[in-house]
Amino acid sequence: MKIKSDPSLVSEVRIYGKFDTNACFQCGSCTVICDLTKDSASFPRRIVRYVQFGLKKLLLSSLEPWLCYYCGDCSTTCPRQTEPGEAMMTLRRYLTAQYDWTGLSSKIYRSKAWEIGALLTVGVIVLLLVAVYHLYVVDLTLPEFTSEAEAVGMEHMFGKIAIFTRIVFFISYFFLLSNAFRMYWFTMHRGSEVKIPFLLYLSELKTFILHGITQKRFRDCKEKDKSHWVKHWFLIPAFVIMFMILVFFLDWFQTDNIYPIYHPQRWLGYFVACAFIFTAVGSLIGRFKKRKQLHKFSTHTDWTFPILLLLTTVSGAAVHIFRYLGLSLITHYTYALHLAIAVPMLVVELPFGKWTHMIYRPLAIYLQTVKEKALQQQQLPEEAILDHAG
Ligand code: SF4
Ligand code: SF4
Repeated sequence: MKIKSDPSLVSEVRIYGKFDTNACFQCGSCTVICDLTKDSASFPRRIVRYVQFGLKKLLLSSLEPWLCYYCGDCSTTCPRQTEPGEAMMTLRRYLTAQYDWTGLSSKIYRSKAWEIGALLTVGVIVLLLVAVYHLYVVDLTLPEFTSEAEAVGMEHMFGKIAIFTRIVFFISYFFLLSNAFRMYWFTMHRGSEVKIPFLLYLSELKTFILHGITQKRFRDCKEKDKSHWVKHWFLIPAFVIMFMILVFFLDWFQTDNIYPIYHPQRWLGYFVACAFIFTAVGSLIGRFKKRKQLHKFSTHTDWTFPILLLLTTVSGAAVHIFRYLGLSLITHYTYALHLAIAVPMLVVELPFGKWTHMIYRPLAIYLQTVKEKALQQQQLPEEAILDHAG
């Protein structure tokens, strides 16, 4: 691979957050302290070096920023206070923007106005759609609005909304998966000369599933306080349950029926709601207090995701309570508000914002494992493995 130096790379990366590595004298203490680094994936020192030298192609082909789970040990160890842990976080934002072919990721990471504008635009479109639906299907403002009409309106609303939910999910996952494909392309094709047998991709899929569901790498960090891992341990199963329900069991979940209290549909919903609230509140308190290293340098995108998650969950819980109490009219309005928060979160944050980490991280571990196994199978000398590892 031909390697060219791009002197503008450092300033390009700095737009995405803190990257004060001028003082770094490459002592390597950060790499030594990191519990997740190893010979074949050595960070954060090496990746900082790529940026300092303007090695953009090597940076784009590297999976290493995604192998860091931001415990902050390297930042507290660095003798020059260059904050290598935060530099890795900044690089993850930069890479997310590079993988995204639409350019929206770059805009929302670099500009608060763009992120808020994108979320508000989608939210307003959703409210307009809901308003049009109500005008044509059921007019909630009519004085003769009877309980029978309310029931009809509610039935129509949830019936139609199932189609709407599927469309929203299709849009989100189309962008998310196409960007994930670009990550694969940059790191395994364009930037790598390693020949990977296709069967290796299949046999290692278990790595992707294991890390995607358990986030066990958080637990492997040296950090004494495991609360970060516990939060993710709650969050990810909740996302997986929500994903499975919305993709495979939507008609069963999004229904006009109110099931009895012992029904699994309700308890799955309660578990997901508790996990989302626990994680979002924990994250917001942590970022507000700034006691931990990983919370010290929050950008606007770090705040948006937990705020939206909390608002979505609370508004969803309110819809559930109002329906349970039989308050149809207020349920309609609250549900419209819930959609105006949840849909922008799914359409903007999931494929373009901070939420992308949920798929890029396990994908990186999977691709790194595939790469290492391919190199071992080809019995390349250790120097070659190190050369290809970035
Ligand atoms: S510990 Fe600090 S100075 Fe040493 S290599 Fe890491 S970032 Fe550079
Ligand atoms: S933040 Fe933690 S996991 Fe990330 S490079 Fe530093 S020590 Fe390693």
